[in-house]
Amino acid sequence: MTLAWRRARLVERHPQSATARSLVFTVPGWPGHLPGQHVDVRLTADDGYQAVRSYSLAAPADGDRIELGVQAVPDGEVSPYLADELPPGAEVEVRGPLGNWFVWRSEQTEPVLLVAGGSGLVPLAAMIRAHRQAESGSPFHLLYSVRTPDDVWYHDHLADGDPTLDVRIVYTRQAPPGSTRPPGRLTPKDLDAWSNRLEPVSPVYVCGPTGFVETASDLLVDLGRDPATIRTERFG
Ligand SMILES: Cc1cc2nc3c(=O)[nH]c(=O)nc-3n(C[C@H](O)[C@H](O)[C@H](O)COP(=O)(O)OP(=O)(O)OC[C@H]3O[C@@H](n4cnc5c(N)ncnc54)[C@H](O)[C@@H]3O)c2cc1C
Repeated sequence: MTLAWRRARLVERHPQSATARSLVFTVPGWPGHLPGQHVDVRLTADDGYQAVRSYSLAAPADGDRIELGVQAVPDGEVSPYLADELPPGAEVEVRGPLGNWFVWRSEQTEPVLLVAGGSGLVPLAAMIRAHRQAESGSPFHLLYSVRTPDDVWYHDHLADGDPTLDVRIVYTRQAPPGSTRPPGRLTPKDLDAWSNRLEPVSPVYVCGPTGFVETASDLLVDLGRDPATIRTERFG
């Protein structure tokens, strides 16, 4: 079945970092979605030229409101425009929700590991927010890889004292003062710390740039995780 394009009006924009924004749109007739799903966004220029890109939904379903998280990619065609130029009140088109595998459902009871690289946190943030909204008791563990402390998104959602959510942030270029882990890419040790808190069937959700997703998934398999439990979303 072909999904319809719907009009989406920008109603809120909030900074997440120097180059990343949260964008809230209202989409009349939005059918709802599951945490982890994404949309296609279509922009149409005055001369009819169109560009389409995918963006994950950053929040659980909330009537006709949807929230996206956009990292402006240097020299990108669409992301810098969405992040900083699309004026409040302006419309784009969205199609979705898309993707039925990279989702978390509130009926799931196993402990969960979320592994995010940079903007790959977006769909995982929707899962964290849905988990909290559902008052789920299933433990959530988040391993979040970012370049520097200034690149951390969603401070409010990551640090609100939820006893069922552990968050570990690893820095690839610059760690905060006093950090015991030197800056660097994800290592087996970073991932191994979680393995004894998971069940063999626990799902692991890995999201971010393709290289990050492949490295993290390979490390998890090397550590003994069943590949069938690893769900991935690649941002390209
Ligand atoms: C399922 C899915 C969900 C996604 N969700 C999100 C999301 O929630 N938030 C988000 O910010 N992006 C997300 N993306 C990525 C997004 O679709 C675009 O690829 C991204 O915004 C770049 O588009 P652009 O038009 O600005 O750049 P383009 O004009 O398409 O590319 C410009 C240059 O940037 C490079 N590039 C493209 N994408 C990236 C990237 N992600 N990182 C680094 N360099 C890149 C290209 O190789 C090219 O050299 C998602 C992608 C997929 C497939």
